Amino acid sequence: MLEKKDRIVTGDRPTGRLHIGHYFGSLQNRVKLQNEYETFILVADVQALTDNFNNPEKVQKNVKEIVMDNLAVGVDPNKATIYLQSMIPEVAELTVFYSNLVTVSRLQRNPTVKTEIAQKKELFGESVTYGFLGYPVSQAADITALNGTIVPVGEDQLPLIEQCREIVRKFNSIYGQTLLEPKAILSNAKRIKGLDGNEKMGKSLGNAIYLSDTDEEITKKVMSAVTDPGRIKKDDPGNPNICMVSYYHKLFTKSNEELEEIMKECRAGTRGCVACKKQLIKNIINELEPIREKRRYYEERPELVKEILMEGTKHARKIAKENMLRIKEAMKLNY
Ligand code: ATP
Ligand code: MG
Repeated sequence: MLEKKDRIVTGDRPTGRLHIGHYFGSLQNRVKLQNEYETFILVADVQALTDNFNNPEKVQKNVKEIVMDNLAVGVDPNKATIYLQSMIPEVAELTVFYSNLVTVSRLQRNPTVKTEIAQKKELFGESVTYGFLGYPVSQAADITALNGTIVPVGEDQLPLIEQCREIVRKFNSIYGQTLLEPKAILSNAKRIKGLDGNEKMGKSLGNAIYLSDTDEEITKKVMSAVTDPGRIKKDDPGNPNICMVSYYHKLFTKSNEELEEIMKECRAGTRGCVACKKQLIKNIINELEPIREKRRYYEERPELVKEILMEGTKHARKIAKENMLRIKEAMKLNY
């Protein structure tokens, strides 16, 4: 159970615009939680550099995109604090302290880190960087720098939160009770699959429908989404359980009646994939249009977007600084 005094820390990497996986997996949750809990939303630019160190322009460009996506879905800067990781030096400092509390083999065993290293063979070759292997440590620093107790995340993040909890316990057992142990919370849609059928839609995986996609982009993507490979002719019976289009219908098609009809007609082979895709396109556009409209408001006001981020960063920094004094004292670094 969450308690009123809980503080939420969550965030996104500025590696691309946010997509519908984020929308169902984390953003909707944020918008709800900001009304009840103190909420901090981190734009994790330093973490984004761990696998984009050779492309700083990409990371910089996406900082404002992430802020705008959050604002567009309804994150309210008067309720939640949106802040920039690289402007909180305490996080980097804590990362160094925590790196003594975690072994290399424990990081190598982290299932999320393992999967991601395998996906990034082209970047890392045979040996991963120290920075990427250690990003769970810096993520533990993000959360604890602000005394976060609740971390709403997608399923892929659970092993990272577990690792953070281990670091906290180790810290407290050595230096005395200082840090709070955070809890992860998942939304109902904890892992949205990609257009290509991949288990995870991801910004870095090229299989996403972005919240800011145009009608044309949405149409093109849905038209090329993976459907039941056994369905060759239009009137072959289909299996909606192995079709990405029916998978997304379950997210975007709000009327149960409409949804049941889609599934029934697919199974009977009376509705072709093209008709089914067109209906999905319409429903996605209906859901995303108000978000895109709000986004346009901020796109026309870049100064306002920057101000929101800078004000939020100032607020987060103040908390991190105060917290750091306590942490350094516990570590006998209070000179
Ligand atoms: P990248 O591929 O660069 O890692 P990403 O799409 O994984 O990008 P992040 O910024 O790493 O996005 O993640 C932000 C938050 O969104 C995390 O809590 C993550 O668990 C959640 N998330 C990301 N992708 C999905 C998804 N497909 N379904 C549900 N939640 C997701
Ligand atoms: Mg990710």
